[in-house]
Amino acid sequence: MSPIWRRGLLPPLAVGLVALLVWPFAGGVAALALLAVGALAMVLWHVAELDGLARWATGALEDPVPEGRGIWALVYDALYRRVRLRSARQRDLRLALDRFVSGAEALPEGVVLLDAANRIEWANRRAEAHLGVNLRQDARSPIVNLVRQPAFVQYLVGGDFSEPVVVESQREAGTTLSVQVVPFGVEEKLLMSRDITRLEAVARMRRDFIANVSHELKTPLTVLTGFLETLADMRLEERQRQRYLALMAEQTRNMQRLVDDLLALSTLESEDSVPHEAEFAIVPLLLQVSADAKALSDGRHEITLDIRDPANVVGSRDELSSAFGNLVSNAVRYTPDGGRIALAWRVSSDGGEFSVIDTGIGIANEHIPRLTERFYRVDRSRSRATGGTGLGLAIVKHVLMRHQAELLIDSAPSQGSRFTVRLPARRVHTLAEATSSDAPAGSAPIGY
Ligand code: ADP
Repeated sequence: MSPIWRRGLLPPLAVGLVALLVWPFAGGVAALALLAVGALAMVLWHVAELDGLARWATGALEDPVPEGRGIWALVYDALYRRVRLRSARQRDLRLALDRFVSGAEALPEGVVLLDAANRIEWANRRAEAHLGVNLRQDARSPIVNLVRQPAFVQYLVGGDFSEPVVVESQREAGTTLSVQVVPFGVEEKLLMSRDITRLEAVARMRRDFIANVSHELKTPLTVLTGFLETLADMRLEERQRQRYLALMAEQTRNMQRLVDDLLALSTLESEDSVPHEAEFAIVPLLLQVSADAKALSDGRHEITLDIRDPANVVGSRDELSSAFGNLVSNAVRYTPDGGRIALAWRVSSDGGEFSVIDTGIGIANEHIPRLTERFYRVDRSRSRATGGTGLGLAIVKHVLMRHQAELLIDSAPSQGSRFTVRLPARRVHTLAEATSSDAPAGSAPIGY
């Protein structure tokens, strides 16, 4: 027998027993009257408790479970346990939902839940930044009211969601988004948006790079093909033949230079390649760079080298030599005959500084930030005519990045340019530091 039966039968049995006991003394009428009063009292009590239960059941959810007596105490205890269990489950569910929402908020993607009619049910904050979906004011609005690009509308209506669609963000100018719909449940959809601006920029750079390389190779190849056909088809005088061969050799050298620079750049850009670092004396490198400049200039310019502080440098000698060589060769190529080119090296507490100052054609301000881009040239024909590949300063930039060094450019049209390389102090040891503390500090400038 359950406790409810056990405890529930006690009061009627007690009343019945009392009536039986009373019967012999007070007679049957009195006993029956007692029984009737007892039964009525019990019915009234149960109705009152039922009324309390009904009020609680129809009242506010958070109202506490009432307390009862007798068997009602057992009923309310059971109800109380149920309510507590339900509250605990609800709390767990709420926590799980909160965790899911904070996870969805932390996603780098925008997330929007759409119902069967493509109306917004929920969206994370990233979706607001990407697509302009503000959950508070846009809940239940059709997504196409907010994302109106024809490509997106067609994608959503078309129903083929195997691939994402690429759209420009209406919210953030210049931001490209990849938007993909994932169907789930009964005709519901999850819409995910991803910022692919950087990926697109890299893809565009790659396309531009391939187009540039193809174009750079096509020009000398066309010239070579033309000369080859002429040499094959026509009987030429020896002098003319020699001239054509010389022009062909020049085009071949241009291609060779381009391929060399491309290979150098790809090695510098490759993530696996690390510079071969060693400590080396800067003076022989500077003398070599200066001698190369003089050879390239062939007496057309006045070239000086001023080494203020002989020092040792920690880094890749080959890479730094190629970077310095590119700056010096630019100075020679962009300085008209008779101009001056001054190379200087000095060390300060900030580090080592190599500068190349020329009195050449100079560069207008708007070009300066773009000079280190691959194939960026201010004067295309002058660059080509002097054997430029358009990659020199890109190589310089990469070498310097690998040495935590910086390139400063100061220039004005028709006035000349100053290109300065700043190597960090930890990479430069003056000879006084390198030898001993009693060596003469601060040597006088050496002119070469
Ligand atoms: P290029 O092979 O064309 O010289 P670079 O990458 O070395 O390529 O240089 C990029 C552009 O910067 C050059 O085409 C030129 O217009 C400009 N430039 C570089 N150095 C100088 C300089 N010393 N004086 C004037 N213009 C320069």
